[in-house]
Amino acid sequence: MLKKSNLAAAIAAAALATAALASPASALPIDQVTLDSPGHEFQFGESGSCVAGAVPGAPAELDWNESANGNSVRPEIDGDLCLQSTNAEARVAVVYHDTLGQTVTKFSSSPGTGNGGPLSAFLVADIGSRVSKASTNHVHLQVEKRNAAGGWTAVSGAERVLYVP
Ligand SMILES: [Zn+2]
Repeated sequence: MLKKSNLAAAIAAAALATAALASPASALPIDQVTLDSPGHEFQFGESGSCVAGAVPGAPAELDWNESANGNSVRPEIDGDLCLQSTNAEARVAVVYHDTLGQTVTKFSSSPGTGNGGPLSAFLVADIGSRVSKASTNHVHLQVEKRNAAGGWTAVSGAERVLYVP
């Protein structure tokens, strides 16, 4: 049995623990994003959410993995790359830009190739490099397709700019 003073201390400790659990929520931002090119050919949405002939039913996530001190981020993407009625090879990429729009670094998912049928889905779960907020201002989250030269081109209508929190 707790004495009254010990009980009060236990309640105070519990209140502190609750506050400590609640406070980091705002320091760990996650962006919810749906990418969908015209005609639904190239998409990025929540895993399992793609539907033939429609926009993904739920958004994919970009978790910033902000550091405890708030000085750096490490973007991580989770969702499905969905390809509809195409034989194109595609991937999801995150391009880090500074305030001038110059590329700092980049990472991308493994590529997937559409089978020409109504819907092909490929799981995406990738994480990039940790960078300081001083170096990176925003990222371009984009679906890219293989171009004729063998490189990768961002798909028009399937890209979003997300600002570092
Ligand atoms: Zn940019």
